[in-house]
Amino acid sequence: MIIQPKIRGFICTTAHPEGCARAVQDQIDWVKAQAPFDGPKKVLVIGSSTGYGLASRIAASFGAGAATLGVFFERPADKKRTASAGWYNTVGFENAARAAGHYARSINGDAFSDEIKAQTIAAIKEDLQQVDLVVYSLASPRRTHPKTGESFSSVLKPIGDSYTSKTVNVQTGEVSDISIETASEEEIAHTTAVMGGEDWEMWIHALDEAGVLAEGVRTVAYTYIGPELTHPVYRDGTIGRAKNHLEQTGLTLNEYLQNKNGSAHVSTNKAMVTQSSAAIPVVPLYISLLYKIMKEKDCHENCIQQMYRLFADRLYTDAPPATDDQGRIRIDDWEMREDVQAAVAALWSSVNTETLEAVSDITSYREEFLGLFGFGFDGIDYEVDVNPDRPL
Ligand code: NAD
Repeated sequence: MIIQPKIRGFICTTAHPEGCARAVQDQIDWVKAQAPFDGPKKVLVIGSSTGYGLASRIAASFGAGAATLGVFFERPADKKRTASAGWYNTVGFENAARAAGHYARSINGDAFSDEIKAQTIAAIKEDLQQVDLVVYSLASPRRTHPKTGESFSSVLKPIGDSYTSKTVNVQTGEVSDISIETASEEEIAHTTAVMGGEDWEMWIHALDEAGVLAEGVRTVAYTYIGPELTHPVYRDGTIGRAKNHLEQTGLTLNEYLQNKNGSAHVSTNKAMVTQSSAAIPVVPLYISLLYKIMKEKDCHENCIQQMYRLFADRLYTDAPPATDDQGRIRIDDWEMREDVQAAVAALWSSVNTETLEAVSDITSYREEFLGLFGFGFDGIDYEVDVNPDRPL
């Protein structure tokens, strides 16, 4: 199959196996060039195939030599379609991890279900006995509740007042106004059911009841805050409500894990080009300005740099990690620096279709977006016929 990008809105429906393996290898190489750290030894990553979860898996495996078990929801290739990027990423990761002598096993299925939790517990009992770190990095548009069977869909909407802001069509470069209607109470509740902390708590309870959490176990989930200009659609909107719930769950789980000297953490991560963030209105324009400024100020990071810093400088040091007044770790510290945000805000007021290329880093945004699906890598010939079928 000759595999080229097919972009539909904010997703790409194809992925390139060799490009995805390269993207994973680039992250591995970066971690291997850093100092190793005394980190976790047996790690479960829920949402391990793309974005922050994949970077967490790579940082734990290649930075601390950890054995990793990954859970994700991805599509293998069939006769007509390529596999999804997360599938190919995982094939690439597993090959590299095993070649380096690190245990890696993966479970593909709906992490919200009881069945996948049971399969995961069985795999831990079989191979690892217990885990000492559980990373919770799911981003999903929907969830079926395992106890009631109810289906929930998340929405990205403001709460209270409708909201109008600039947004960019990443493909065409057109900057225009978007107006988003306010969410209903039901939409807020549904978004919280999908992206809040209930499932994280179910995972930790199920793992604990099965006896597969080690003494001193840690768990970490990821949140986002961001600047005021995105607050109506993010932090003060439906997804922000879900994140409030996730953060509260972190505090509850921290208490819960005290009996095994464990801890639960929520890390506030930097805005990043991922499959999930591409779906949020307004945010891609913000990211393309943010990247420009952070690169100019030499403080730009990608997922892997963020996750390495989270593990090596915050979670696995002698002292408990510093947190803000809500108990959150702030690895978004450089994004939220006053000088960075002031510079982004100045560009935000002036950016339009005509100035986009000059004032933003939309070029990198596009490249990174294609890179998420394995496209645009030097040395890979995208005209060559490749076998899309890569078994895990
Ligand atoms: P992503 O889309 O790259 O990754 C999502 C992962 O969840 C994938 O591994 C996917 O397979 C898995 N997944 C989705 N539904 C699943 C299901 N039902 N069962 C099993 N696996 C499932 O997303 P991301 O941007 O890396 O986000 C991960 C976390 O980081 C989220 O909590 C997100 O809010 C947070 N975060 C993201 C950003 C950002 O800018 N991207 C910033 C801060 C925090």
